Amino acid sequence: MAENWGQLKSFEGKKFEALDAEFTKEVSKLIGGQDLTACFQCAKCSAGCPVSDKVNIQVHELMRMLLFGFREVLDTDMVWLCTTCYQCQQRCPQGIEITDIIFGLKNMAFRKGITPPGYVTSRKALYDNGKLYEPTDWERDDLALPPVPHLDVAETRKVLGKTGLMRLQEGE
Ligand code: SF4
Ligand code: SF4
Repeated sequence: MAENWGQLKSFEGKKFEALDAEFTKEVSKLIGGQDLTACFQCAKCSAGCPVSDKVNIQVHELMRMLLFGFREVLDTDMVWLCTTCYQCQQRCPQGIEITDIIFGLKNMAFRKGITPPGYVTSRKALYDNGKLYEPTDWERDDLALPPVPHLDVAETRKVLGKTGLMRLQEGE
């Protein structure tokens, strides 16, 4: 993730020279994206966001970047550090489906290969093994648990296939 985004908090010093109307149009087709213009920058979303002290832009800033067609929004860590807790969406006085928009941004970022490596590895592990973590025998012994029941990976793959999880990134 780009480290210099912290400088853009509240867009201080940023010159909007390359607004991309096409990007705004793309985002407006996402679930919730049709309401971008309803955002009046009250920042209630950011005030309730549990990761607000971890991200390099706040969620209300992200909303304005989308409206301005600022494609670099996909490089900000708000996209991937968002826990999808829906707090912002609940708090928005304009009823904007903010979290759903962010879900869409995750998909857009993923297709462009802007994805934290851990997500890519987890995606593969989930598809290959049907689980993210392989418990060891001694861990289960310690807890007096029986062996891990057999998992039919073909079944889990069928389910994951329907979610589109394994759809390829551009260039993959
Ligand atoms: S709470 Fe809603 S209206 Fe307020 S800044 Fe966030 S998205 Fe915009
Ligand atoms: S859904 Fe994401 S952006 Fe919204 S409050 Fe939760 S963590 Fe923050």
